[in-house]
Amino acid sequence: MATLEKLSSKDAIALEEKYGAHNYHPLPVVLSKGEGVFMWDAEGKKYYDFLSAYSAVNQGHCHPRIVNAMSEQAKTLTLTSRAFYNDMLGKFEKYATEYFGFDKLLPMNTGAEAVETAIKICRKWAYEKKGIPETEAKIVVFENNFHGRTTTIISFSNDENARKNFGPYTPGFIKVAYNDPAALEEVLKTEKNIAGVLIEPIQGEAGVFRPAEGYIAKVKELCNSHGVLFIADEIQTGIARTGSLLAVCGNCSCEGHCERQQTYQRPDMLILGKALSGGAYPVSAVLADDAVMNVIKPGQHGSTFGGNPVAAAVAMEALEVVRDEKLAQNARKLGELFRRKLNDYIRNSNIVTLVRGKGLLNAIVINDSEDSSTAWDICMALKENGLLAKPTHGNIIRFAPPLVMTEEQLLDCVDIITKTLEKFES
Ligand SMILES: *Cc1c(COP(=O)(O)O)cnc(C)c1O
Repeated sequence: MATLEKLSSKDAIALEEKYGAHNYHPLPVVLSKGEGVFMWDAEGKKYYDFLSAYSAVNQGHCHPRIVNAMSEQAKTLTLTSRAFYNDMLGKFEKYATEYFGFDKLLPMNTGAEAVETAIKICRKWAYEKKGIPETEAKIVVFENNFHGRTTTIISFSNDENARKNFGPYTPGFIKVAYNDPAALEEVLKTEKNIAGVLIEPIQGEAGVFRPAEGYIAKVKELCNSHGVLFIADEIQTGIARTGSLLAVCGNCSCEGHCERQQTYQRPDMLILGKALSGGAYPVSAVLADDAVMNVIKPGQHGSTFGGNPVAAAVAMEALEVVRDEKLAQNARKLGELFRRKLNDYIRNSNIVTLVRGKGLLNAIVINDSEDSSTAWDICMALKENGLLAKPTHGNIIRFAPPLVMTEEQLLDCVDIITKTLEKFES
């Protein structure tokens, strides 16, 4: 069968080049196998994964429990559509709402779909519960946000590459500076008809930009006092990545939802994707309480694949793995070690100016112009040395390994990274 034929890396790249749309610029490595923190290319070379498919593979590649849940369910029932009930979705909804501490869950597939869902729910809530005149609702978003690639979502991006020539743009969004409580307060005070605030607790795509301590608490407080929904996009930061179950959990590193923790900034709507399936399958979701979620009635929103039995089985197992393997605690511990080691290196470095992040969502900033190829060249050298990472926004390299990494493996990776960087010191 043609699909089982083994391709060389060169041939695989050539096929994509010729037959695939050129909407990505991948590092030239062709992966054909993954297990835990490792991936192997078509020629059998082994790499540490330091991207985790943008934090989708927090539980590690091909986690046996997740793969098993997926294959068992795939042999039993894969798709019914929501025209009928299936016997897995309700179980998943109960499990996930208890896990995260919300009344209800709305299942979708990709992250962008979940963001779109949250936007729709927010608008509908604004008209039906808050009394905003129809079509007038506005949602506050932030400079340098990343929430996905749909027409509406790119409408409020300020990445020219993501936006240009995709207009006309969807109206109804107001962009304010991130990490600037006064700017948000000003908009909430002066603008009429604001329905919600959509925020990433840490801006991942923007280069792992972590706001000041207390900023997210302030955002939530402002949302509360102005009666608008506080909507957290935790597609990248959630599910143990930043050393707590959610980035909005603050300093708590338990793997449960931490209602009783003072640091927990509970959103009115929580958006999840990526690691919700451990990277095995596209599963995303919006969680909210009844007062918000109940504005959605039959026929008003949906998805053929959303909430299918395979997605439900995979997501439950993926969340169970996070808890059983204490991945938040591991991410917190290894993240601190990683930044400490990198900071030691940076003290005598000309090529790296800083390391920042939280848990195992980190980035280094390269001391070169935004449009230089240095970050790319470093990633190419890291690849040669057996570690895969990708630049984000020019001179920033994101480091986000699977959370199942051991301390010994992390130290091995620090070694690869610092030895590689040394070659770039002038
Ligand atoms: C990846 C991501 C999305 C989009 O998810 P897709 O599954 O690629 O549609 C949205 N928001 C954030 C913060 C993300 O990191």
